[in-house]
Amino acid sequence: MSLSLDRSKLAIVTDVVIVGAGPCGLFQVFELGLLGLKSELVDSLAQVGGQCTELYPDKPIYDIPAIPVCTARELIERLQEQIRPFNPGYHLGQEVTEVKPRPDGRFDVATSRGTRFDAGAVIIAGGVGSFQPRRLAVEGSDRHEGHSIHYRVKDAASFHDQDLVICGGGDSALDWTLELIDRARSIVLVHRRAEFRGAPASVERMLALVEEGRLDFIEGQVQSIVEQGEKLTGLKVTARDGVTRTIATDQVLVFWGLSPKLGPIAEWGLTLHRRTIAVDTHRFQTNIPGIYAVGDINDYPGKKKLILSGFHEAALAAFAVKEHLRPGEKIHLQYTTTSPLLQKRLGVGGDAGDSAAEGAGARHSA
Ligand code: FAD
Repeated sequence: MSLSLDRSKLAIVTDVVIVGAGPCGLFQVFELGLLGLKSELVDSLAQVGGQCTELYPDKPIYDIPAIPVCTARELIERLQEQIRPFNPGYHLGQEVTEVKPRPDGRFDVATSRGTRFDAGAVIIAGGVGSFQPRRLAVEGSDRHEGHSIHYRVKDAASFHDQDLVICGGGDSALDWTLELIDRARSIVLVHRRAEFRGAPASVERMLALVEEGRLDFIEGQVQSIVEQGEKLTGLKVTARDGVTRTIATDQVLVFWGLSPKLGPIAEWGLTLHRRTIAVDTHRFQTNIPGIYAVGDINDYPGKKKLILSGFHEAALAAFAVKEHLRPGEKIHLQYTTTSPLLQKRLGVGGDAGDSAAEGAGARHSA
């Protein structure tokens, strides 16, 4: 008997897949949740928060309505708390690679890690694009990616008892140097400058290790990789004195930060203006019915790349998605202050049944 794999059985069935878990993607969960819609969030980063978390977590933000000041990290923590009642699925550390409309109007969505969704609608909250690690741009390095050249640490134990080269001068490079120093056979830290961007305490500890002779530091640039057959055996590094040396190593860890790339979004048949997606301004729908875009990634006359603009867009997109999924159904605008249904969805009381009370507490028809 031959067994064929029923791919549809493996997909997560949901109302909406949100591409990007920055501030706008997170708030999108809230607006959909108020309307009774379930969402799944996907982000290529290992944590939520988009630019706020990745680029400026400790900087104060002053222009979020009713919050005179909070750090970017606090804003993301508050958004996560606000959406908790709606229990979104989080799929982090994976990029949405495919969005395919189906004849039945739903979408097949797939990620770089093989997670698959069967979604009623897709909302792209991709900001300035998918954050990708800056890679070692030397001949042949891609052949070793994930084997002996790494841009993130999936399993720290795989670096124990190994000779390592760690490249970078920020927190990630320093944190992993300090974490692995007692477990690796040897570590050489390579950074193009003698100044480090990491936390002062980490820089101090790293310099003390160099002083004690437990860690080698080379101020220099990686020129090429050294291979024996298919195996990576070392790196050629030109130091500040102009001399190029070969450093024997088993594994290379590169922490040169992340840069945004529009990436797969460009291949989904959407109308793009430079690196943004064209949308209308009443639904924030793209040229493909059922695919919407909110936040920094969208483009319309007068667009301002501000978090509060993205929040407004998320509210309108949620109503449009509801209309798309339940055509002909009357959707009432309700207030969280007075609607028992919304309060029930928020888990703060109210005993309204979902459909019977859809209009309770309503002020206007949307
Ligand atoms: P982002 O925050 O960019 O998040 C998008 C997410 O989508 C990213 O995490 C990315 O990895 C993910 N993604 C993209 N493509 C894919 C894919 N294919 N698969 C999976 N994931 C994907 N705005 C203000 O309003 N006030 C301020 O004071 C302010 N200060 C700022 C200071 C700095 C230094 C910077 C850089 C920006 C500032 N901004 C400020 C702008 C603000 O951060 C952005 O407007 C906001 O982050 C946009 O949110 P977003 O959710 O649209 O996108």
